[in-house]
Amino acid sequence: MYYSNSTKVFLNGSFISGKDAQSSTYSQSLHYGSGVFEGLRSYKTEEGTKIFKAQEHYERLLYSAEKMHIKVNYNVDDLTNKTYELLKVNNLSNAYIRPLIYSGANMALLPTEESNLFICAWKWDRYLGDGGLNVMTSRYERPNPKSCHVDTKVTGHYTNSILASTDAKEKGYDEALLLDQHGFVAESPGANFFFEKDGKIYTPRTGNILPGITRSTIINIAKELGYEVEEGLYHLKDVYGADSAFFTGTAVEVANIQSLDNVKFSKEWKGTIGYELSLAYNQLVIGKYQQAVTII
Ligand code: PMP
Repeated sequence: MYYSNSTKVFLNGSFISGKDAQSSTYSQSLHYGSGVFEGLRSYKTEEGTKIFKAQEHYERLLYSAEKMHIKVNYNVDDLTNKTYELLKVNNLSNAYIRPLIYSGANMALLPTEESNLFICAWKWDRYLGDGGLNVMTSRYERPNPKSCHVDTKVTGHYTNSILASTDAKEKGYDEALLLDQHGFVAESPGANFFFEKDGKIYTPRTGNILPGITRSTIINIAKELGYEVEEGLYHLKDVYGADSAFFTGTAVEVANIQSLDNVKFSKEWKGTIGYELSLAYNQLVIGKYQQAVTII
């Protein structure tokens, strides 16, 4: 799924075959989860292939690296240019892009001088599919912001995500919703959470979540369409009575949630604000947002 015999990847300055890309088994990132990464999407537009919010994603990658004391010899422009080149050599337009910066060999719990940049891309449909998701509140909490930098994309943080998603799947649900260390609703293993009540949109405030680029895009679209958006602290009981709910993220885009802990949201997806926002988002990523706004 991720690569074929003809796939090229970017590794430390060169485009090489995906099957020849190798890394050290002594890498600190492999042993301790100290790598940093991003997830971007590119879309086919009338003006050619466009990476959505490349600057924001690469700024966040460099921010994550800085927080983990990983040195990076590339700036946002270099990273963006290399990614466009990668898409071109692989003849990809609608793609998911995964840059990863990982450390050199080091068994100590201190940073290494060596850092490696790997970027790959593949065709990947919307991560959580199109049907309404049945979601359960996870027994796993999001990591405490006092124990790590929750606003970064560090590989090791995703052990928490894997545990929560696996647990939800094993129990027959599509995805998990995690609370923060104080019991407030936080986010899913790989996406942000929104709910709609009486014509207003609510989403957990930043501090205990990854501040998603899709999350801020959706907040902006909602405000532009005249909806009130509140960022706050919410208990599960606030969500159970809601009209609708959805996840946002680069991989999931806008994904409809039909129930939380077997409590159904009252509105049909097509009559919700989330649906309207998802249509606008789909247009925005292909550069047709203004036309979309007039249609909605
Ligand atoms: N929360 C988590 C934990 C994530 O991994 C992601 C995906 N990066 C998101 C939220 C959504 O972020 P974005 O919209 O920037 O993709």
